[in-house]
Amino acid sequence: MLNVSEVKGVGPKSLSLLNKLGIFTVEDLVMHYPFRYDILKRTDLSQALEEDRVIVDGKVESVPILLRFKAGLNKLNFRLVTQAGVVGVSIFNRAFMKSNLTIGTSVIVIGKYDRKKNIITASEIKFGLLNQQEKIEPVYHCTSGLSNKSLATYINTAILMNGKDVCDYIPAVYQDKYHFSNKRTALNIVHNPPTMEKLKEAQIRLKYEELFMFMFKINYLKETRKNEKIGIERDLKEEHVINMFSLLPFDLTGDQKNAVWEIFQDLNKKSRMNRLLQGDVGSGKTIVAILAMYLNCLSGYQSALMAPTEILATQHYHNVKELLKDTDLEIELLKGSQTKKEKQDIYRRLIHGNIHILIGTHALIQEEVTYQNLGLVVTDEQHRFGVNQRALLNNKGIMPDILYMSATPIPRTYALTIYGDMDVSIIKEMPKGRIPVKTFVKSDSEMKEVLEIMNEELKNGHQIYVIAPLIEETENSDLTTVLSLKDKMTLAFGKKYQIDIVHGKMASGVKDLIMGEFKQNKIQILISTTVIEVGVDVPNASMMVIFDANRFGLSTLHQLRGRVGRGSIASKCILISSVDTKRLEIMEQTTDGFEISEEDFKLRGHGDLFGTKQSGDMSFKIANLRQDYKILVQAKRDSLEYFLDRSSDNDDLKKQLIESINSN
Ligand code: ADP
Ligand code: MG
Repeated sequence: MLNVSEVKGVGPKSLSLLNKLGIFTVEDLVMHYPFRYDILKRTDLSQALEEDRVIVDGKVESVPILLRFKAGLNKLNFRLVTQAGVVGVSIFNRAFMKSNLTIGTSVIVIGKYDRKKNIITASEIKFGLLNQQEKIEPVYHCTSGLSNKSLATYINTAILMNGKDVCDYIPAVYQDKYHFSNKRTALNIVHNPPTMEKLKEAQIRLKYEELFMFMFKINYLKETRKNEKIGIERDLKEEHVINMFSLLPFDLTGDQKNAVWEIFQDLNKKSRMNRLLQGDVGSGKTIVAILAMYLNCLSGYQSALMAPTEILATQHYHNVKELLKDTDLEIELLKGSQTKKEKQDIYRRLIHGNIHILIGTHALIQEEVTYQNLGLVVTDEQHRFGVNQRALLNNKGIMPDILYMSATPIPRTYALTIYGDMDVSIIKEMPKGRIPVKTFVKSDSEMKEVLEIMNEELKNGHQIYVIAPLIEETENSDLTTVLSLKDKMTLAFGKKYQIDIVHGKMASGVKDLIMGEFKQNKIQILISTTVIEVGVDVPNASMMVIFDANRFGLSTLHQLRGRVGRGSIASKCILISSVDTKRLEIMEQTTDGFEISEEDFKLRGHGDLFGTKQSGDMSFKIANLRQDYKILVQAKRDSLEYFLDRSSDNDDLKKQLIESINSN
């Protein structure tokens, strides 16, 4: 791939600026697409209203006169001949343009028109004329020192360069099928659009290409996995599952049972399981995952359960222990805070097969952890294995089945893409007896009322979560902090109740200790940042108060709210905010995670839905999943057809696509 420094005119200085924009190769450069287009339409001055923003083009008719004022201000005045006659032009602080504005120079002038004086006070002067009626101007993300204009120049130089620096990834069949122009032409149009119509066509072509490549990758991963015969083939019997169900303290919901049966079938199959278990917070995914681990252990393999935080890992550990207490499985928790000796002991027992289920964070799949025969990895909450991590597991010569749990309800568009290479089990039905959490949006001025409701809840013997966006005060923010709330809550309730805090900066041992005390009801009010967002399960906590609720995305609020209403007590969630209440009211109206994520998706775009970790997977340069759904569906179909078409297996393009998947 050609380095961008090969582009004529790019010197060391502009090279580092281009790098700053994430542009390293010629391909990156030509794919630095405009984020917006300005449409310059010639104004009919005779129709222009006073003070309107006008755009005219014409030729300079008089030598510009430069006037200088105090404080370094200056102004250029000249006359311009336009199609509609002569008009005066003034522009401030562009003395440097004087030498370029010679008589006869063609310019486009944008500014405010004073009809009485027949003068335009220009905000901008560009060289050239408006072709036809309008000029479509690409606007790029720039960085200081690198202007829109110089970027455009480099991009256009790069487009004109010969050679194989820019690949065309659409197979000829589909180029023909959709009458697409070639890549170079499309790039040229996107960076220099002659008309809106042509621009749209070129954009569709480039979006299709991007989505085709993406879906080809997904299809490739899915199909190769289907055909891999390297998974573990187990011989589990249906009785195993039925017996297991009868050991549970409650009946599983229909959806939970279905999920268990799907996993059961995957485990018995020779191919590797790659399954997503999706269900709203509190829908009972963890039980399903524990049963999957139990089945895996029954067939003689070890299981690992990976959680995003230690608090959560600890909680899973207690749940697994409790649920499997009547079995003879050895269950262990691996934590950062353990001593070296404790860890070494775990590693030793693990390698000898004396631990059957290991629970922890990412540490579970790191170098020094070696399993005797790891058969199943369960990961909680959006921890998708990157290709690298999968390789890490593979390098140990083991091919465990993988079960992902996610509480993020995924809109249809997404399910097709990021999880497109997985099989999915969905739990929609909530366990019986759940009472939906009542949610209220309150303004800062209603604090007294909020405290009264809290008091009522505490008097009934229940516990409360209080959430703030920040831990401690910072200079440039007046957001509510955990520490300031601790003072306030102590003032209001400290005489009768125990109040404590947890946040991400605490040592994990301390966090666990406090969470443990909250669970045992030794603490009644727990103040926290969003560290408790995922998974913590305290059924006696029946109320949550979220300060500066407008600071959070709806999906985050939904996850937070999922911490209450987990038992049989009617629970409440209070969102405190004096702004952005319209958006927050969606939380009052529904407790359906799917609906909320759809709203979030509409309001915030896809960027925030999965947090930044996922964004690498999902960042498209030109396609937009929401707007380009139809193209996505088409690209998905075509790329699968292309992948499965054996006659194209020797095509360079196909090899290249596959190589690019395996190399990252
Ligand atoms: P999730 O992981 O989906 O957020 P959990 O598995 O933590 O949900 O389940 C939430 C709570 O509901 C737990 O206390 C769990 O014991 C309980 N639970 C799960 N399934 C059922 C069920 N079928 N009937 C009753 N309670 C259940
Ligand atoms: Mg299998």
